[in-house]
Amino acid sequence: MGFDNIIGHEKQKSLLLSFLEKERLPHAFLFAGQDGIGKKRTAIEFTKYIFCAKSAGCGKCIPCLKVERGVHPDLLFVEGENSIGIEQSRMISKEIYEYPYESNKRVIIIDRADTMTHEATNALLKTLEEPPPFNVFFLITASERSIPLTVRSRCTRMAFSPLTKDNLKQYFLELHKMDGGKAQLFSQISCGSIGCGLFWMEENNLLLRRTLVELVTGKNRSFLDTTIISEKVSKNSKDVSIYLSFLLSFFRDMFLVSNHKDTAMIINRDVRELLEGEVVDLKWIDTSIRSIQEAIHTMRYNVNKWLVFENLLLQIMR
Ligand SMILES: [Zn+2]
Repeated sequence: MGFDNIIGHEKQKSLLLSFLEKERLPHAFLFAGQDGIGKKRTAIEFTKYIFCAKSAGCGKCIPCLKVERGVHPDLLFVEGENSIGIEQSRMISKEIYEYPYESNKRVIIIDRADTMTHEATNALLKTLEEPPPFNVFFLITASERSIPLTVRSRCTRMAFSPLTKDNLKQYFLELHKMDGGKAQLFSQISCGSIGCGLFWMEENNLLLRRTLVELVTGKNRSFLDTTIISEKVSKNSKDVSIYLSFLLSFFRDMFLVSNHKDTAMIINRDVRELLEGEVVDLKWIDTSIRSIQEAIHTMRYNVNKWLVFENLLLQIMR
C-alpha cells in the first residue's frame, strides 16, 4: 500500500510524508532524475496520501482507487504525445481556479515537463507565480535543464537517483517473481531503471539485443540485417536510447575483458559468450565507444534516427 509499492527513494518518500504531516505542502514540486526510476509512480502514490479517506494512502478507499484508475476529479494528469502545448497549459490555468470537487486539494501532475513548448511554459509560469492555495503541482522530468530556470525556481526540487542493483533485484524478485539468477541479470542490465528493465523483459527486445551484438562483433555480417535492425531499433526515441546505452555498456564490457582479463565485472552477462575468448583490438573498442557517444549526442536533435543508427552500425561493425 502507498509508498510500500515503490522500491528505493526512501529519503524522498519520508520527506514527502513529512510535508503532509506538518501540513506544509509546497505548491509545486520538481521531480528530476533519469527515466524509468519511479518519479511518476511516486507522485501518483503520494497523491493517494493527499486524497485518501484515511490519510494513509491505503490504496483501498474510494479516493485511493480513483487515483489509481486515473479518474479522480481533483487529479489532473498532463502528458504530451511529443510536447505539451498551449492548449494543455490553458486547460491547467482554467482548472486551477475552480475549487476541488471531492478533496480539499487539487493535484496536477505534468509528466515530461521538459517537453512544454515556450508558450505553454509561459502560461504555466503565470500559474505558478500566484497559484490558488489548494493546488499542488508535480513537474516530472528526466531533462531538468530543458525547463526554464524561472519555472524551476518556483518548485521544490527533489532529485531521484538511479535505483541500486539491490533495489532492482528486489523489484524483479518480488514483483515479477523471477528466480535469483534472472533477477540478478536484470538488475545489472537495467542501468538503474525499472523502465529499462521492463523493456528488456520483452522477449523481442532481448533477442534484438543479441542480434545487434552478433552484428557488431562480426558474428553476422549481413548488411541487410543492419538496415532491418536499424529500422526496428529506431521506432521511437526511448527505444533507440536504450539500445545505444546497451551498445556503450557492451563495448565497456569488451574493454574490461580484453584489457584487464576481468570477467567478474561484466554487465551484459546474457551475451557473455560473445565477449569472451577473443583477442580484441583496443583501438577498435576505443573508436567505437566514441562513435556511440557521438550518436547519443546527435539523437538529442531532430534527426533521422534510423539513418544515424545505421551509420553508427556501419562505423563500428567489425
Ligand atoms: Zn485510501
